[in-house]
Amino acid sequence: MAKLNEKITNQRNDFLHKLSYRLINENQVICLEDLNVKGMVRNRYLAKAISDSGWGELCRQMQYKADWYGRTVKQIPRFYPSSKECSICRFVMTDLKLSRRTWTCPNCGTVHDRDDNASSIILSVGQGMPEVTPVEKMASVSSILSMKQVNSKKQETLAS
Ligand SMILES: [Zn+2]
Repeated sequence: MAKLNEKITNQRNDFLHKLSYRLINENQVICLEDLNVKGMVRNRYLAKAISDSGWGELCRQMQYKADWYGRTVKQIPRFYPSSKECSICRFVMTDLKLSRRTWTCPNCGTVHDRDDNASSIILSVGQGMPEVTPVEKMASVSSILSMKQVNSKKQETLAS
């Protein structure tokens, strides 16, 4: 059993590395949803499917490979209603159960596949967001910002 488990783990890691490499290699910008994987795993109906698919690990690999290859990863906020918003007219279906895989927008009449629609929304929201900045760059950005603050204070002093 232990050997079999090890083999499955290796196969999954190999798959995730190949997939994350391919996605990063073929795209300049990748938009992801910031999924609450830990919280979702606590849901017993979703736990096995999510743990097996290795979502969290795939996102982690895409983030660091994006840094290596100069690509941009954007994460849309965790609570954005990506599955419930119509990608055509932006109408939000407040009452949409997880079990419903297709739905019809009551506003524009478009029939949506739940996942296809969510991916269109994630892409469009992500494209409108600023780039995710790695920690090292954040440090230099904050030092530039504090320099600017110092300069504007100096100017205020000069003006008064
Ligand atoms: Zn619509």
